[in-house]
Amino acid sequence: MLTVHMEKQLSHFTLDVKFNVGREIAVLFGPSGSGKTTILNGIAGLTKINDGEIRLNERVLFREGKSLVPVQERKVGYLFQDYALFPHKTVWENIEYGMKQESFAKKLIDKLQVGHLLTQYPHEISGGEKQRTALIRAIATEPELLLLDEPFSALDEKTKNNSYEQLLAVHQEWHIPIILVTHNKSEVELLADKVLYMKNGKIMEEKLQEKEKISLKM
Ligand code: ADP
Ligand code: MG
Repeated sequence: MLTVHMEKQLSHFTLDVKFNVGREIAVLFGPSGSGKTTILNGIAGLTKINDGEIRLNERVLFREGKSLVPVQERKVGYLFQDYALFPHKTVWENIEYGMKQESFAKKLIDKLQVGHLLTQYPHEISGGEKQRTALIRAIATEPELLLLDEPFSALDEKTKNNSYEQLLAVHQEWHIPIILVTHNKSEVELLADKVLYMKNGKIMEEKLQEKEKISLKM
């Protein structure tokens, strides 16, 4: 379980949010500039927060203006909006970075079908392949929480649909809390157990929902 209370002064407004995420997929939905990426960065420990408290399972990551757990020790997997793969590392070297157990990483590689790409460099693979590599890299660290910042926005329709299935399959198997940032309504319908509607740094509405069923082929 992740519980977040975060206050942070931004350039045009104050970010002030409270929410929690169990072993489910919570979607952060809101217009560009509403503070979604800042929330993920705050949880990951990549940006300074003014006040609040962040707990992940039994650990307090942040409290009373102080980061209590450094970024590398937070056990948070993060898939950045632009994937942020290391350009001079191969697909395998990207995955190996921060990986816990090789056997687990190999399982993910199999499941997300990048086995044939392991010696390629990021500039030699497609957008969907980069996205899968970045997802495997994030999960191979065996995190207690997964943060996904608009992971599907750069993909074409067909690749998107495959990626939805892959994410659901990954979640079904590992059941960790996931925060997914998206602008896309159909992603909300297909993937979210809970939707947090954001505007100007605040959560305007929180809604639980029953996901539309898509058949998992994996
Ligand atoms: P979103 O991901 O919803 O598009 P962001 O979290 O990237 O929104 O940004 C929200 C707002 O906060 C923007 O106006 C942005 O310029 C501002 N902002 C982002 N990071 C910081 C920071 N470290 N300090 C002050 N303002 C910031
Ligand atoms: Mg953003």
